[in-house]
Amino acid sequence: MRYVVVGGGPAGISAVEAIRKADPAGTITLVAAEARPALSPVMLSYWASGRYPEERLLFRERDSWGEQQRLELRCGRRATAIDPERHVVSLSCGEAVQYDRLLVATGALPVIPPIPGIASKGVYPFRSFADAQGILTCRPGGGRVALMGGGFIGIKLACHLQERGIECAVFEKEPRLASRIFDQRGSDIVKAHLRAHGIMVETGTGVREVEAAEGWVAGVRLEDGRSVPAQVLVAAVGVRPNTALLDAALGAVGKTTRGGIPVNDRMETALPGVYAAGDAAATVDSLTGASFNNAVWPAATRQGAVAGANMAGGQRRYVHNFSLNAMNLHGLQVASAGHPYDQAGEEIAVYQEEGPEGYRKAVLKAGELIGFLLIGDASRAGLLLSRMRRRDRIADPAELFSRNRHALSGLPPNRGYSHGSLWE
Ligand SMILES: Cc1cc2nc3c(=O)[nH]c(=O)nc-3n(C[C@H](O)[C@H](O)[C@H](O)COP(=O)(O)OP(=O)(O)OC[C@H]3O[C@@H](n4cnc5c(N)ncnc54)[C@H](O)[C@@H]3O)c2cc1C
Repeated sequence: MRYVVVGGGPAGISAVEAIRKADPAGTITLVAAEARPALSPVMLSYWASGRYPEERLLFRERDSWGEQQRLELRCGRRATAIDPERHVVSLSCGEAVQYDRLLVATGALPVIPPIPGIASKGVYPFRSFADAQGILTCRPGGGRVALMGGGFIGIKLACHLQERGIECAVFEKEPRLASRIFDQRGSDIVKAHLRAHGIMVETGTGVREVEAAEGWVAGVRLEDGRSVPAQVLVAAVGVRPNTALLDAALGAVGKTTRGGIPVNDRMETALPGVYAAGDAAATVDSLTGASFNNAVWPAATRQGAVAGANMAGGQRRYVHNFSLNAMNLHGLQVASAGHPYDQAGEEIAVYQEEGPEGYRKAVLKAGELIGFLLIGDASRAGLLLSRMRRRDRIADPAELFSRNRHALSGLPPNRGYSHGSLWE
């Protein structure tokens, strides 16, 4: 059996390991655009803080791991096209590689908003090691880094740059930070915390224009008219699935790749022998049944492992697919899963508490936990996750946080239910 895996991120790497475990004899070719695959984007901002050595960015050591998995490595090369009829992948170096099973794990591409001045020197996305290096070194004289976008990647980077002594300012167009993670109260807590650590944070006002001097970033003009000086701008407004390799082939069989490469719960695409996983794939949210692009690390590794096992003849299904985030923002722990933000409607019960241990919120649909947000003490995240996965019926949502009930007496104004429907 000839396996080809395109993409050396967590989805591709875990697929390789699952294939090799199930098929000791097959030929596995890993095509990775970088000379150093298995470089963790999650660790990039930690590295930018100056507290972690470069080696910590690699979650597998290329040569020893490649040898151990008995790989045909094609590093520093891109897959440029596939021919699904002939089962061939073309590479940027001119090579054509034959496959019986192909995995597309090409990740995501940063979105760069087409605003005036965006082509100025000193503007970076934040996805690769080269981006991180550029942000740190492009202005030897230092200066303020402005972050366009207050999603979890933007605010994490702001914290880490600030730790390094770099002044940061975050501008989020939406009324709240990380709007798929935080509700308004959660966003307000995080915003106040970041501001207390000296980070300028503005919500409800996006960057309208990049101001430049002699071709370099000199500041940003906000939608509310203010002008804020900055020497570097990081565009952290989101990502889009990198589907290019399969766009034409899937289009030819009537499938759109707009929200990611559509796959079933075995990670199979509509093309025979072709699988997709990770940020490039569109999967089904097991809580809502809606198609979505679950662009987080744990989803990429689990999807890759399922794809790899099935490519090698297994019968694994990808279950418990919902978003999951955990981060530490200047000492403030945050954990969230599923759908923790406010919604309106009938079948939904929202339970919130706030006290000395932080802010906690649970969202239930028809008695089942479908989302939570913990800010401050995140120690119950694992327990809540397992209850979500088991689809336990929760009779009294307060019991989810019950270990600390004693700390909450005296706080009735901040506790209670509201009702709504998540998918109206
Ligand atoms: C800065 C940053 C911080 C993050 N922090 C967190 C976090 O704290 N927690 C969390 O859960 N998630 C986080 N994420 C998201 C997480 O990193 C991604 O969900 C995960 O890396 C996706 O894995 P993947 O294998 O699908 O794609 P990637 O990790 O993007 O890997 C895909 C690889 O494929 C390569 N490639 C693309 N096209 C081709 C081609 N044609 N030929 C060959 N190779 C190709 C790419 O260069 C890339 O190396 C973060 C992401 C970023 C960018």
